[in-house]
Amino acid sequence: MTWKTMTLTGWGRTRRAEVAACRPERAPAAVRLLQGRFDRGILAYGLGRSYGDAPLNDGGHVLLTERLNRMVSFDPDDGTLVCEAGVTFDDLFAAFLPRGFMPPTSPGTSFATVGGAVANDVHGKNHDRVGSFGDHVLWLDLVLPSGEQVRVSPTERPDLFAATIGGVGLTGVILHVCFRLRRVASASVEVRERRMPDLDGFMAGLAEARETAGYSVGWIDGMARGAAMGRGILETAETAPTDPAGTAAKAPRKRAVPVDLPGFALNPFSINLFNQAYYRRVPAAGRTRTLPVRQFLYPLDAIHDWNRIYGKRGFYQFQNVVPDAEAPAALRKLLEAISDARAGSFLAVLKTLGGEGRGHLSFPMRGYTLALDFPRRDGVEDLLARLAAITLDHGGRVYLAKDAVLDPAGFARMYPRLGEFRQVLDSIDPDRRIQSDLSRRLDIRGAVA
Ligand SMILES: Cc1cc2nc3c(=O)[nH]c(=O)nc-3n(C[C@H](O)[C@H](O)[C@H](O)COP(=O)(O)OP(=O)(O)OC[C@H]3O[C@@H](n4cnc5c(N)ncnc54)[C@H](O)[C@@H]3O)c2cc1C
Repeated sequence: MTWKTMTLTGWGRTRRAEVAACRPERAPAAVRLLQGRFDRGILAYGLGRSYGDAPLNDGGHVLLTERLNRMVSFDPDDGTLVCEAGVTFDDLFAAFLPRGFMPPTSPGTSFATVGGAVANDVHGKNHDRVGSFGDHVLWLDLVLPSGEQVRVSPTERPDLFAATIGGVGLTGVILHVCFRLRRVASASVEVRERRMPDLDGFMAGLAEARETAGYSVGWIDGMARGAAMGRGILETAETAPTDPAGTAAKAPRKRAVPVDLPGFALNPFSINLFNQAYYRRVPAAGRTRTLPVRQFLYPLDAIHDWNRIYGKRGFYQFQNVVPDAEAPAALRKLLEAISDARAGSFLAVLKTLGGEGRGHLSFPMRGYTLALDFPRRDGVEDLLARLAAITLDHGGRVYLAKDAVLDPAGFARMYPRLGEFRQVLDSIDPDRRIQSDLSRRLDIRGAVA
């Protein structure tokens, strides 16, 4: 296999890495590759849908998993699927939605791989109901940093399993994942949209929705100030009993952003206009629509490479979660800090999460999660530090899949199971053969024992 020099980025395009990359076609080749020598470590890269530096290894080696994308076996009686880790959510929908199955949960893009979904223990709009992706994994095959291949599950090497779920690729390369798909009555969802006039109203709406709805998500206007601060649209949804005629399982059409937009195209004024229009899109009395499930789950996928809208300097995404009890005070402070900084964020996402994940570094906890995009401008990194500090003060954490700027001390306080994670890594990777820009930035491995 040949290694090629290439530049990789995270989805936000603020972080870049020059790497030696290899794209194996088959699992045995991936196992052989891991047995090589790597001066600055090696790391698996899915499709780079993490925003920051989680999938990057600047100056080191990277194993691209995109061609390890075969379905291995499927049991239609109970929905159990074994697939290679490079299979995407798009692949899963294409193969199984026509047969009445879909992934148990999914992030907001279908262009993430199953390996990436495990390694970030991703959550979807149904987290309160079904937990995160790792909660559905029955077992997985992993190539350890030593090159040895092992199968791990909640009962086989449970510590290594817990380190791999949400373990940001640091336990090795995931080859196969076994999990159960969910049976669905149709390929459509009935979506109810309602305006939420302010933050208190929004939180009350979400608190009710997490108990009653199959899916719930809020789109919040991060630019609204004063009495309107925290206003937005609450969407709840259920699987429709049948598909409206002519809509079943159709893949959504996609458009592309042809060039990097110039930096000045996005400014607080244009963003504000967009956010206001989005709010008014839904009539004051609300509305109910039936949509293809993919359109509901992946509204941003309709525009290919939408990250280029932010121009060459890229953008940051901030996502945190704060516990229920702290959420009213914390969210208010976060929105005030954003408004004070006049940083300008397109629609932010506000939703609830149901509880802790299975992984040592799983992001979810029972609480409210807020996610916002900020164009990269002078001063934005200070704002991100301020948002992280507010999060910490309120017992919350920042999501590593989105992060590019957190510091090691903040990270260690947010992730209390870091000690357990380090113990597993010390036992399977004493020579630190797996590395990433994220692991170095946050000192995830800690001092050498
Ligand atoms: C538009 C958009 C919406 C999103 N919405 C959500 C959301 O709602 N919820 C959510 O949780 N996340 C969300 N995300 C984040 C995304 O789901 C995660 O970052 C996911 O991990 C990306 O998958 P990927 O295959 O691109 O992995 P990459 O970004 O390439 O890699 C992510 C991590 O996984 C590791 N990894 C990848 N493949 C393997 C493997 N085979 N073995 C071992 N480690 C591996 C990498 O080393 C890296 O640490 C969103 C991202 C985008 C762009």
